[in-house]
Amino acid sequence: MDGLDEDRAIADLRALAQFGKVGTGVNRPALTDADVAAREWLRDRMAEAGLAATIDGIGNVYGRAPSAHIALLAGSHSDSVPNGGWLDGALGVVFALEIARARRAAHPNAAVGVDAISFSDEEGTFLACSGSRSFCGALTPSDLHGARNAARESLTGRLDSLGWSTRPLARLEPERHRAFLEAHIEQGPRLIESGHHVGAVTGIVGLRRRQVRFEGQADHAGTTPMAMRRDASMAMHAFALSAAKELRAAGSPDSVWNLGVVLVRPGAANVVSDEAEIVVEFRDLSTAVIDRMDEALRALIDRTDGAGGVRTTSSIIGRIEPTHMDERLVAIVETAAAQENARSERMQSGAGHDAMIVGRQIPAAMLFVPSLGGRSHHVSEDTDEADIRRGLRVYARAAQSILEALAPNGRGAL
Ligand SMILES: [Zn+2]
Repeated sequence: MDGLDEDRAIADLRALAQFGKVGTGVNRPALTDADVAAREWLRDRMAEAGLAATIDGIGNVYGRAPSAHIALLAGSHSDSVPNGGWLDGALGVVFALEIARARRAAHPNAAVGVDAISFSDEEGTFLACSGSRSFCGALTPSDLHGARNAARESLTGRLDSLGWSTRPLARLEPERHRAFLEAHIEQGPRLIESGHHVGAVTGIVGLRRRQVRFEGQADHAGTTPMAMRRDASMAMHAFALSAAKELRAAGSPDSVWNLGVVLVRPGAANVVSDEAEIVVEFRDLSTAVIDRMDEALRALIDRTDGAGGVRTTSSIIGRIEPTHMDERLVAIVETAAAQENARSERMQSGAGHDAMIVGRQIPAAMLFVPSLGGRSHHVSEDTDEADIRRGLRVYARAAQSILEALAPNGRGAL
Protein backbone atom coordinates (compact mmCIF):
# COMPACT_ATOMS: atom_id res chain seq x y z
CA MET A 1 0.00 0.00 0.00
CA ASP A 2 1.37 3.42 -0.96
CA GLY A 3 2.67 5.43 1.97
CA LEU A 4 2.56 2.60 4.51
CA ASP A 5 4.99 3.43 7.31
CA GLU A 6 5.91 0.45 9.51
CA ASP A 7 8.09 2.49 11.86
CA ARG A 8 5.30 4.98 12.47
CA ALA A 9 2.89 2.15 13.28
CA ILE A 10 5.35 0.53 15.71
CA ALA A 11 5.89 3.91 17.39
CA ASP A 12 2.11 4.34 17.72
CA LEU A 13 1.73 0.88 19.23
CA ARG A 14 4.40 1.73 21.81
CA ALA A 15 2.78 5.10 22.50
CA LEU A 16 -0.65 3.50 22.97
CA ALA A 17 0.91 1.01 25.42
CA GLN A 18 1.84 3.93 27.72
CA PHE A 19 -1.83 4.46 28.61
CA GLY A 20 -2.47 2.33 31.70
CA LYS A 21 1.00 0.80 31.48
CA VAL A 22 1.67 -1.93 34.07
CA GLY A 23 5.07 -3.55 33.62
CA THR A 24 5.13 -4.99 30.11
CA GLY A 25 1.33 -4.85 29.82
CA VAL A 26 -1.58 -2.45 30.24
CA ASN A 27 -4.43 -2.04 32.68
CA ARG A 28 -7.04 -0.33 30.52
CA PRO A 29 -10.53 -1.71 31.19
CA ALA A 30 -13.26 0.06 29.26
CA LEU A 31 -14.01 3.67 30.23
CA THR A 32 -11.43 3.82 33.01
CA ASP A 33 -9.37 7.01 33.01
CA ALA A 34 -6.56 5.20 31.14
CA ASP A 35 -8.95 3.90 28.48
CA VAL A 36 -10.55 7.33 28.06
CA ALA A 37 -7.13 8.99 27.70
CA ALA A 38 -6.11 6.36 25.13
CA ARG A 39 -9.32 6.96 23.18
CA GLU A 40 -8.77 10.71 23.14
CA TRP A 41 -5.21 10.12 21.92
CA LEU A 42 -6.48 7.81 19.16
CA ARG A 43 -9.09 10.34 18.10
CA ASP A 44 -6.35 12.96 17.77
CA ARG A 45 -4.18 10.58 15.68
CA MET A 46 -7.16 9.91 13.38
CA ALA A 47 -7.85 13.63 13.05
CA GLU A 48 -4.17 14.27 12.24
CA ALA A 49 -4.50 11.66 9.51
CA GLY A 50 -7.25 13.75 7.91
CA LEU A 51 -10.15 11.59 9.04
CA ALA A 52 -13.35 13.06 10.49
CA ALA A 53 -12.71 11.70 13.99
CA THR A 54 -15.13 11.41 16.89
CA ILE A 55 -15.70 9.52 20.11
CA ASP A 56 -19.33 8.47 19.99
CA GLY A 57 -22.02 8.08 22.66
CA ILE A 58 -20.79 4.66 23.81
CA GLY A 59 -17.04 5.29 23.52
CA ASN A 60 -16.29 4.08 19.99
CA VAL A 61 -13.47 6.09 18.39
CA TYR A 62 -14.45 6.44 14.76
CA GLY A 63 -12.40 8.08 12.00
CA ARG A 64 -14.25 8.53 8.77
CA ALA A 65 -12.57 9.10 5.40
CA PRO A 66 -14.20 12.41 4.44
CA SER A 67 -14.14 12.13 0.65
CA ALA A 68 -15.25 8.51 0.49
CA HIS A 69 -18.70 7.21 -0.37
CA ILE A 70 -17.60 3.61 0.00
CA ALA A 71 -15.27 2.44 2.75
CA LEU A 72 -13.39 -0.53 4.06
CA LEU A 73 -14.07 -0.52 7.80
CA ALA A 74 -10.87 -1.37 9.65
CA GLY A 75 -10.32 -1.73 13.37
CA SER A 76 -10.50 -3.60 16.64
CA HIS A 77 -10.65 -2.47 20.29
CA SER A 78 -8.33 -0.47 22.55
CA ASP A 79 -9.71 -1.51 25.95
CA SER A 80 -8.02 -4.34 27.84
CA VAL A 81 -8.86 -6.90 30.51
CA PRO A 82 -7.55 -5.92 33.98
CA ASN A 83 -3.74 -6.19 33.85
CA GLY A 84 -3.83 -7.38 30.26
CA GLY A 85 -1.40 -7.35 27.38
CA TRP A 86 -0.28 -4.42 25.24
CA LEU A 87 -1.33 -5.93 21.90
CA ASP A 88 -4.77 -7.47 22.45
CA GLY A 89 -7.01 -5.14 20.43
CA ALA A 90 -4.42 -2.35 20.25
CA LEU A 91 -2.59 -4.10 17.41
CA GLY A 92 -5.69 -4.10 15.19
CA VAL A 93 -6.54 -0.50 16.06
CA VAL A 94 -3.05 0.77 15.17
CA PHE A 95 -2.96 -1.30 11.96
CA ALA A 96 -6.31 0.27 11.00
CA LEU A 97 -5.05 3.75 11.85
CA GLU A 98 -1.93 3.18 9.75
CA ILE A 99 -3.75 2.01 6.62
CA ALA A 100 -6.38 4.75 6.94
CA ARG A 101 -3.56 7.30 7.24
CA ALA A 102 -1.63 5.87 4.29
CA ARG A 103 -4.76 5.71 2.10
CA ARG A 104 -5.79 9.25 3.00
CA ALA A 105 -2.32 10.64 2.29
CA ALA A 106 -1.91 8.82 -1.02
CA HIS A 107 -5.48 9.28 -2.32
CA PRO A 108 -7.06 12.19 -0.42
CA ASN A 109 -10.01 12.51 -2.78
CA ALA A 110 -10.68 8.84 -3.48
CA ALA A 111 -14.33 7.78 -3.50
CA VAL A 112 -13.28 4.53 -1.82
CA GLY A 113 -11.52 5.00 1.50
CA VAL A 114 -10.64 3.42 4.81
CA ASP A 115 -12.69 4.19 7.93
CA ALA A 116 -10.83 3.33 11.15
CA ILE A 117 -12.53 2.35 14.38
CA SER A 118 -11.65 1.40 17.94
CA PHE A 119 -14.71 -0.28 19.42
CA SER A 120 -15.54 0.27 23.07
CA ASP A 121 -15.55 -2.46 25.74
CA GLU A 122 -14.83 -5.53 23.65
CA GLU A 123 -13.59 -7.23 26.82
CA GLY A 124 -16.86 -6.85 28.69
CA THR A 125 -15.94 -4.60 31.61
CA PHE A 126 -19.58 -3.50 31.39
CA LEU A 127 -20.91 -5.60 28.50
CA ALA A 128 -18.81 -7.59 26.05
CA CYS A 129 -18.61 -6.04 22.57
CA SER A 130 -21.00 -3.26 23.58
CA GLY A 131 -19.19 -0.88 21.20
CA SER A 132 -19.46 -3.10 18.13
CA ARG A 133 -23.00 -4.14 19.09
CA SER A 134 -24.03 -0.50 19.31
CA PHE A 135 -22.33 0.24 15.99
CA CYS A 136 -24.23 -2.64 14.37
CA GLY A 137 -27.59 -1.70 15.94
CA ALA A 138 -27.49 -4.93 17.94
CA LEU A 139 -27.55 -3.41 21.42
CA THR A 140 -31.03 -3.35 22.96
CA PRO A 141 -32.02 -0.61 25.44
CA SER A 142 -32.28 -3.25 28.16
CA ASP A 143 -28.74 -4.50 27.37
CA LEU A 144 -27.50 -0.92 27.55
CA HIS A 145 -29.30 -0.02 30.75
CA GLY A 146 -28.50 -3.33 32.47
CA ALA A 147 -24.74 -3.18 31.79
CA ARG A 148 -22.64 -2.80 34.96
CA ASN A 149 -19.01 -3.28 35.88
CA ALA A 150 -17.74 -5.39 38.79
CA ALA A 151 -18.11 -2.37 41.11
CA ARG A 152 -21.83 -2.22 40.13
CA GLU A 153 -21.33 1.10 38.33
CA SER A 154 -23.69 1.32 35.36
CA LEU A 155 -22.45 1.85 31.82
CA THR A 156 -24.96 4.66 31.27
CA GLY A 157 -23.86 6.33 34.54
CA ARG A 158 -20.22 6.18 33.49
CA LEU A 159 -21.01 7.57 30.02
CA ASP A 160 -22.98 10.37 31.71
CA SER A 161 -20.10 11.27 34.00
CA LEU A 162 -17.78 11.44 30.98
CA GLY A 163 -20.25 13.70 29.20
CA TRP A 164 -20.41 11.21 26.35
CA SER A 165 -23.96 9.87 26.71
CA THR A 166 -25.57 12.71 24.76
CA ARG A 167 -23.25 12.29 21.82
CA PRO A 168 -24.54 10.68 18.63
CA LEU A 169 -23.80 7.01 18.08
CA ALA A 170 -21.61 6.03 15.14
CA ARG A 171 -23.50 3.46 13.10
CA LEU A 172 -22.75 0.89 10.46
CA GLU A 173 -23.90 2.08 7.04
CA PRO A 174 -24.28 -0.96 4.80
CA GLU A 175 -24.18 1.23 1.67
CA ARG A 176 -20.87 2.68 2.79
CA HIS A 177 -19.18 -0.05 4.82
CA ARG A 178 -18.77 -2.91 2.36
CA ALA A 179 -16.24 -4.97 4.29
CA PHE A 180 -14.60 -5.20 7.72
CA LEU A 181 -10.99 -6.21 8.32
CA GLU A 182 -9.65 -6.85 11.84
CA ALA A 183 -6.08 -7.73 12.72
CA HIS A 184 -5.48 -9.32 16.11
CA ILE A 185 -2.94 -11.38 18.01
CA GLU A 186 -3.82 -15.07 17.98
CA GLN A 187 -3.96 -15.36 21.80
CA GLY A 188 -3.15 -19.06 21.49
CA PRO A 189 -0.17 -21.27 20.59
CA ARG A 190 -1.06 -22.60 17.12
CA LEU A 191 0.87 -20.20 14.87
CA ILE A 192 3.95 -20.08 17.04
CA GLU A 193 4.00 -23.88 17.36
CA SER A 194 3.53 -24.50 13.63
CA GLY A 195 5.94 -21.77 12.51
CA HIS A 196 3.32 -19.87 10.50
CA HIS A 197 3.44 -16.08 10.35
CA VAL A 198 -0.21 -15.28 9.73
CA GLY A 199 -3.55 -16.90 10.51
CA ALA A 200 -6.33 -16.41 7.98
CA VAL A 201 -9.36 -16.70 10.23
CA THR A 202 -12.22 -18.72 8.74
CA GLY A 203 -14.68 -18.02 11.51
CA ILE A 204 -15.28 -17.38 15.16
CA VAL A 205 -16.61 -20.33 17.07
CA GLY A 206 -20.03 -20.41 18.65
CA LEU A 207 -20.59 -21.68 22.13
CA ARG A 208 -23.29 -23.22 24.26
CA ARG A 209 -23.46 -23.59 28.02
CA ARG A 210 -25.57 -26.32 29.61
CA GLN A 211 -26.04 -26.20 33.36
CA VAL A 212 -26.63 -29.63 34.89
CA ARG A 213 -28.16 -29.95 38.38
CA PHE A 214 -28.07 -32.99 40.65
CA GLU A 215 -30.50 -33.40 43.53
CA GLY A 216 -29.91 -36.04 46.20
CA GLN A 217 -30.26 -36.10 49.96
CA ALA A 218 -28.06 -34.67 52.71
CA ASP A 219 -26.96 -37.25 55.28
CA HIS A 220 -24.26 -37.81 57.88
CA ALA A 221 -21.12 -38.81 55.97
CA GLY A 222 -19.99 -41.10 58.80
CA THR A 223 -23.12 -42.99 59.69
CA THR A 224 -24.93 -43.46 56.35
CA PRO A 225 -23.93 -46.71 54.58
CA MET A 226 -22.62 -46.14 51.06
CA ALA A 227 -25.41 -48.16 49.46
CA MET A 228 -28.08 -45.98 51.11
CA ARG A 229 -26.72 -42.60 50.02
CA ARG A 230 -28.27 -40.30 47.43
CA ASP A 231 -25.02 -38.47 46.82
CA ALA A 232 -25.33 -35.50 44.45
CA SER A 233 -21.58 -34.83 44.46
CA MET A 234 -20.65 -38.38 43.39
CA ALA A 235 -23.32 -38.31 40.68
CA MET A 236 -21.93 -35.05 39.36
CA HIS A 237 -18.34 -36.27 39.29
CA ALA A 238 -19.32 -39.48 37.49
CA PHE A 239 -21.28 -37.38 35.01
CA ALA A 240 -18.32 -35.06 34.40
CA LEU A 241 -16.02 -37.96 33.43
CA SER A 242 -18.61 -39.42 31.05
CA ALA A 243 -19.42 -35.99 29.60
CA ALA A 244 -15.81 -35.52 28.47
CA LYS A 245 -15.92 -38.86 26.61
CA GLU A 246 -19.30 -38.11 25.02
CA LEU A 247 -18.21 -34.64 23.87
CA ARG A 248 -15.01 -35.99 22.35
CA ALA A 249 -17.00 -38.58 20.39
CA ALA A 250 -19.67 -36.11 19.22
CA GLY A 251 -17.42 -33.12 18.50
CA SER A 252 -15.07 -32.27 15.64
CA PRO A 253 -11.26 -32.37 15.96
CA ASP A 254 -11.37 -28.60 16.64
CA SER A 255 -14.15 -28.73 19.25
CA VAL A 256 -13.26 -27.61 22.76
CA TRP A 257 -15.15 -27.85 26.03
CA ASN A 258 -14.73 -26.79 29.61
CA LEU A 259 -16.18 -27.72 32.99
CA GLY A 260 -15.41 -24.35 34.55
CA VAL A 261 -18.18 -24.07 37.14
CA VAL A 262 -18.68 -26.77 39.76
CA LEU A 263 -20.75 -26.30 42.92
CA VAL A 264 -21.42 -28.77 45.69
CA ARG A 265 -23.83 -28.05 48.57
CA PRO A 266 -23.81 -27.81 51.47
CA GLY A 267 -20.06 -28.10 50.91
CA ALA A 268 -18.98 -29.77 54.16
CA ALA A 269 -16.57 -32.69 54.44
CA ASN A 270 -18.84 -34.54 56.85
CA VAL A 271 -22.12 -34.10 54.96
CA VAL A 272 -23.24 -36.17 51.96
CA SER A 273 -24.19 -33.46 49.50
CA ASP A 274 -27.80 -33.03 48.49
CA GLU A 275 -27.17 -30.62 45.63
CA ALA A 276 -24.53 -30.27 42.95
CA GLU A 277 -24.25 -28.24 39.79
CA ILE A 278 -21.86 -28.20 36.86
CA VAL A 279 -21.74 -25.96 33.78
CA VAL A 280 -20.55 -27.62 30.58
CA GLU A 281 -19.40 -25.09 27.97
CA PHE A 282 -18.59 -26.34 24.47
CA ARG A 283 -17.49 -24.54 21.31
CA ASP A 284 -17.18 -25.24 17.62
CA LEU A 285 -17.34 -23.37 14.32
CA SER A 286 -20.27 -25.49 13.14
CA THR A 287 -23.74 -25.12 14.63
CA ALA A 288 -24.47 -28.70 13.54
CA VAL A 289 -21.50 -29.95 15.58
CA ILE A 290 -22.58 -27.88 18.59
CA ASP A 291 -26.09 -29.38 18.24
CA ARG A 292 -24.58 -32.86 18.07
CA MET A 293 -22.50 -32.28 21.22
CA ASP A 294 -25.54 -30.95 23.03
CA GLU A 295 -27.60 -33.95 21.90
CA ALA A 296 -24.94 -36.28 23.32
CA LEU A 297 -25.00 -34.40 26.63
CA ARG A 298 -28.78 -34.58 26.86
CA ALA A 299 -28.75 -38.31 26.14
CA LEU A 300 -26.17 -38.76 28.91
CA ILE A 301 -28.33 -36.72 31.29
CA ASP A 302 -31.35 -38.92 30.46
CA ARG A 303 -29.32 -42.05 31.17
CA THR A 304 -27.92 -40.55 34.38
CA ASP A 305 -31.21 -39.29 35.81
CA GLY A 306 -32.36 -41.37 38.78
CA ALA A 307 -29.17 -43.39 39.17
CA GLY A 308 -28.19 -43.69 42.83
CA GLY A 309 -31.40 -41.92 43.80
CA VAL A 310 -30.15 -38.63 42.36
CA ARG A 311 -32.39 -36.59 40.13
CA THR A 312 -30.59 -34.92 37.20
CA THR A 313 -32.00 -31.97 35.27
CA SER A 314 -30.44 -29.42 32.93
CA SER A 315 -31.00 -26.24 31.00
CA ILE A 316 -29.19 -24.07 28.48
CA ILE A 317 -27.87 -20.92 30.17
CA GLY A 318 -25.86 -19.39 27.33
CA ARG A 319 -25.47 -19.60 23.60
CA ILE A 320 -23.56 -17.66 20.95
CA GLU A 321 -23.88 -18.67 17.31
CA PRO A 322 -20.70 -19.09 15.23
CA THR A 323 -19.79 -16.30 12.80
CA HIS A 324 -18.23 -17.32 9.51
CA MET A 325 -15.80 -14.95 7.87
CA ASP A 326 -16.41 -14.02 4.24
CA GLU A 327 -14.73 -16.60 1.99
CA ARG A 328 -13.65 -13.99 -0.62
CA LEU A 329 -12.00 -11.90 2.09
CA VAL A 330 -10.31 -14.94 3.66
CA ALA A 331 -8.86 -15.75 0.24
CA ILE A 332 -7.67 -12.13 -0.10
CA VAL A 333 -5.84 -12.42 3.24
CA GLU A 334 -4.21 -15.69 2.11
CA THR A 335 -3.12 -14.19 -1.21
CA ALA A 336 -1.75 -11.10 0.54
CA ALA A 337 0.27 -13.36 2.88
CA ALA A 338 1.72 -15.29 -0.07
CA GLN A 339 2.68 -12.03 -1.80
CA GLU A 340 4.53 -10.92 1.36
CA ASN A 341 6.29 -14.30 1.62
CA ALA A 342 4.47 -14.95 4.89
CA ARG A 343 3.54 -18.53 5.70
CA SER A 344 -0.18 -18.50 6.42
CA GLU A 345 -2.58 -21.01 7.84
CA ARG A 346 -6.37 -21.09 7.84
CA MET A 347 -7.69 -21.29 11.38
CA GLN A 348 -10.75 -20.68 13.46
CA SER A 349 -10.84 -18.26 16.36
CA GLY A 350 -11.73 -19.82 19.69
CA ALA A 351 -12.02 -16.39 21.29
CA GLY A 352 -14.72 -13.80 20.64
CA HIS A 353 -13.88 -10.62 18.70
CA ASP A 354 -15.64 -7.53 17.35
CA ALA A 355 -15.51 -9.21 13.92
CA MET A 356 -18.01 -11.70 15.32
CA ILE A 357 -20.56 -8.90 15.71
CA VAL A 358 -19.69 -6.93 12.55
CA GLY A 359 -19.37 -10.12 10.47
CA ARG A 360 -23.07 -10.83 10.99
CA GLN A 361 -23.89 -7.61 9.11
CA ILE A 362 -21.26 -7.19 6.38
CA PRO A 363 -18.49 -9.36 4.87
CA ALA A 364 -15.66 -9.58 7.41
CA ALA A 365 -12.25 -11.15 7.77
CA MET A 366 -9.59 -11.39 10.46
CA LEU A 367 -5.86 -11.80 10.32
CA PHE A 368 -3.93 -13.25 13.28
CA VAL A 369 -0.26 -12.73 14.12
CA PRO A 370 1.58 -15.19 16.41
CA SER A 371 1.46 -14.80 20.19
CA LEU A 372 4.72 -15.64 21.97
CA GLY A 373 4.13 -18.73 24.11
CA GLY A 374 0.45 -18.50 23.15
CA ARG A 375 0.05 -16.09 26.08
CA SER A 376 -2.68 -13.46 26.26
CA HIS A 377 -4.98 -11.67 28.74
CA HIS A 378 -1.85 -11.22 30.83
CA VAL A 379 0.94 -8.61 30.99
CA SER A 380 3.36 -11.19 29.55
CA GLU A 381 1.50 -11.13 26.20
CA ASP A 382 3.88 -10.28 23.35
CA THR A 383 4.66 -10.80 19.67
CA ASP A 384 8.02 -10.65 17.90
CA GLU A 385 8.39 -7.23 16.28
CA ALA A 386 9.27 -8.94 12.98
CA ASP A 387 5.90 -10.72 13.13
CA ILE A 388 4.09 -7.45 13.88
CA ARG A 389 5.76 -5.77 10.90
CA ARG A 390 5.07 -8.71 8.59
CA GLY A 391 1.48 -8.82 9.82
CA LEU A 392 1.06 -5.13 9.03
CA ARG A 393 2.38 -5.60 5.50
CA VAL A 394 -0.02 -8.50 4.91
CA TYR A 395 -2.91 -6.53 6.43
CA ALA A 396 -2.16 -3.48 4.27
CA ARG A 397 -1.86 -5.59 1.13
CA ALA A 398 -5.18 -7.30 1.88
CA ALA A 399 -6.75 -3.88 2.50
CA GLN A 400 -5.38 -2.64 -0.82
CA SER A 401 -6.94 -5.62 -2.64
CA ILE A 402 -10.27 -4.97 -0.95
CA LEU A 403 -10.15 -1.28 -1.88
CA GLU A 404 -9.42 -2.22 -5.50
CA ALA A 405 -12.32 -4.67 -5.50
CA LEU A 406 -14.60 -1.96 -4.10
CA ALA A 407 -13.61 0.66 -6.69
CA PRO A 408 -16.35 1.47 -9.23
CA ASN A 409 -14.25 -0.15 -11.97
CA GLY A 410 -13.03 -2.85 -9.57
CA ARG A 411 -12.88 -6.57 -10.06
CA GLY A 412 -16.30 -7.05 -8.61
CA ALA A 413 -18.23 -5.70 -5.67
CA LEU A 414 -17.87 -7.36 -2.33
ZN1 LIG B 1 -9.11 -8.63 21.73
